[in-house]
Amino acid sequence: MKTIGLIGGMSWESTVVYYQLLNRMARERLGGLHSAELLLWSFDFAEIEALQAAGDWEAATARMTAAAAAVARGGADCIVICTNTMHKMAEAVEAAAGLPLIHIADATASAVKAAGVKAPLLLATGYTMEQDFYKGRLKAKHGIDVRVPDAAGRKLVHDIIYDELCQGIVSAPSKARYLAIVQQAVADGADSVIFGCTEIDLLVSAEDFDIPSFDTTELHARAALDFALGA
Ligand code: GLU
Repeated sequence: MKTIGLIGGMSWESTVVYYQLLNRMARERLGGLHSAELLLWSFDFAEIEALQAAGDWEAATARMTAAAAAVARGGADCIVICTNTMHKMAEAVEAAAGLPLIHIADATASAVKAAGVKAPLLLATGYTMEQDFYKGRLKAKHGIDVRVPDAAGRKLVHDIIYDELCQGIVSAPSKARYLAIVQQAVADGADSVIFGCTEIDLLVSAEDFDIPSFDTTELHARAALDFALGA
């Protein structure tokens, strides 16, 4: 089994989910006492969030590449960035580690294409919904055109991620707000929904929707384990 190098703590609420998923999937696949071989770099998310909010992506990239190099020195065989947003600097991270990076957008795109849907709604941080690094990769590399909520909807989705989910707060009113945003998007023609932030599965799940949903945390963990097991 190969060793998966995780760059997490963004937030740790979702890194915990990665840890559980990877180990549970390893047990499902290999049986008995098997678990995943992992190395984890976990940031103090307050420091990273401050750089994001200040738009200091250069400093954020420096933190990410230093973490990637450390995980590589520790003996990892691949890199997994446990957040959609911080795939903004995925190329720099991959280069700094000198290891293959399992890209969360590629793992998501495979599932979207397999489901045959055409108009997924992307729920994510404002950075992921508004900048090009994620939507652009889905479009250019995979031919997937995502939709995003309107400005008010994007702010709501973003604020609930940072003010609640990343702080371990899961509330029924916020869930209702997410469901309403998806309902509106479906009325406007969306045919599926991407949980494009690794904390969103803490708030909503596939059972909440009668359209296909794509949980990036789970899809990413599965792709990482496939790599580790040589599948
Ligand atoms: N975990 C989140 C994501 O998947 C948001 C936190 C972050 O900015 O990294 O985008």
